[in-house]
Amino acid sequence: MKKLFTIFFLLTIYECVAIMECNASEELFQIEQLNLIVPVTDASIEQFFDRSILYRPTFIVQDGLPWYGAIRDDWYPHTKPRKHYGVDYYADTIFVLAMEKGTVLKVGKNRKAGGNVRILHSDSIETMYLHLSKVFVWNGKTVQRGDTLGIITKPEGNAYQTQLHFSIVRKGKFINPFDYLKTSIRFRETVQRRLMEFQKTKIEREWERKKLVEEFNRFQTNQVP
Ligand SMILES: [Zn+2]
Repeated sequence: MKKLFTIFFLLTIYECVAIMECNASEELFQIEQLNLIVPVTDASIEQFFDRSILYRPTFIVQDGLPWYGAIRDDWYPHTKPRKHYGVDYYADTIFVLAMEKGTVLKVGKNRKAGGNVRILHSDSIETMYLHLSKVFVWNGKTVQRGDTLGIITKPEGNAYQTQLHFSIVRKGKFINPFDYLKTSIRFRETVQRRLMEFQKTKIEREWERKKLVEEFNRFQTNQVP
């Protein structure tokens, strides 16, 4: 009986640890001395990859491609092609987390970005979070890594789907977070496999988007009387 109880006790502890690990966001990026986590709750690194750079938006032309550096040519208003200076993450409900400890530099809201938050982590590193439905922090607030900054429940600003856009700024310039994958996990099998999948789908998606934009432009031209 005592033995059974011990096994039950150990199993409970194991489950608690497993649940904690499931909810905790893993560190994914390392920039200078900072360790940045995946900026959403309940996403393993694998799920994060699947819902960001490997995700295919339903409205591929309007929403654009979800990765850093993608060339976008949004429909409304029809603008010149421009580079996407961040990474998009798609899900039905998103709890947005601070990627590292820092100070809230600015909380804002506008037509393009919806609710948005900027956090200063060090002299040179800043992170930005866009398309938030509700923001829970304010200017000057100190945040810890993993603190909830806000929630996204519907498309906000110029987003067509429920999505988070996040950017990392280093010394005043946008950088590609995936160039700073933590060395310790860079070679982990799952991460490497996802990155290989990304390289394969990237060319295909860019081609698909180019075709859709051309089709749209032709349609617009035909509409002119
Ligand atoms: Zn974006």
